[in-house]
Amino acid sequence: GKEGVLIKGSNYLEALSQTKTVVFDKTGTLTQGVFEVSAVHHSPMAQEKLLEYAALAECASSHPISKSLQKAAGGALDRSRVTDIQEHSGRGVTAVVDGVAVAAGNGKLMEELGVAWHECHSVGTIVHIRDSHIAVNGEYAGHIVISDVEKPHSRDAIAALKAAGVTKTVMLTGDIQKVADYVARDLGVDEVRAELLPADKVERVEELLKAEPEGAKLAFVGDGINDAPVLSRADIGIAMGAMGSDAAIEAADVVLMDDDPMKIAKAIKISRKCIRIVHENIVFSLGVKLLCLL
Ligand code: ADP
Ligand code: MG
Repeated sequence: GKEGVLIKGSNYLEALSQTKTVVFDKTGTLTQGVFEVSAVHHSPMAQEKLLEYAALAECASSHPISKSLQKAAGGALDRSRVTDIQEHSGRGVTAVVDGVAVAAGNGKLMEELGVAWHECHSVGTIVHIRDSHIAVNGEYAGHIVISDVEKPHSRDAIAALKAAGVTKTVMLTGDIQKVADYVARDLGVDEVRAELLPADKVERVEELLKAEPEGAKLAFVGDGINDAPVLSRADIGIAMGAMGSDAAIEAADVVLMDDDPMKIAKAIKISRKCIRIVHENIVFSLGVKLLCLL
């Protein structure tokens, strides 16, 4: 309704009122998912050229990192220069740009391709680039450091959940440990797991579900990009409605129309109030019947 929260059924209203654990995805959920390029390191190529190759390789992906690199490259990208695009979920993309095999992604992707990559000392999400043209450094063409910012309400949202009786908050992310630790500490999230592939996120949520006490419910909040399977696995799947993918909105039980994580505590409070009113009505109608009988 006017709160901007869509709940797809009364059973989820009841489950929400019993939520004890809230698990979050990072990118696009607790952070805005709008990355800015902050540096280019270890590249024998000109910075603009590296960005252009990365953006071209990323031209067909709807991942927030791809969108941000496309924007950073500026101007229109000539997609006819790109073929053989392949998305590697939770790792990055590979494509052929101007006839050259290009890869843009994390350390895992580079390892799979056998590219020797360099660790980065900056705190940020790192996109390593492989360009099969580069003779120096083997095929490694350097990395782009990109940074995302926390949503303005994320910290308050975590605090509000605790005030509403949620006992455990967890963040799961495919991003590197350094970034994950920084965000989790800054927001006051209790537990953090990083460098997870989409299947690892499902496994982790299953472990958390097993650890839940009887009657307690677990909610997962995500944007559907690389986390749609977890959205359906959790007791309550909560999706970001504005920035999130259609798959997320489809898989979710609750949709936050304006992507504001503050709305989760609000939804829990509203659900408790509704359940209480329902119980009061039952007691009241039973009472009336009893009086009539007497
Ligand atoms: P999160 O769990 O934070 O939402 P994802 O699971 O979507 O992150 O992605 C995990 C990691 O995989 C990213 O931090 C990034 O290193 C890499 N990655 C995923 N998709 C892309 C892409 N299209 N381009 C470059 N890197 C990507
Ligand atoms: Mg994500």
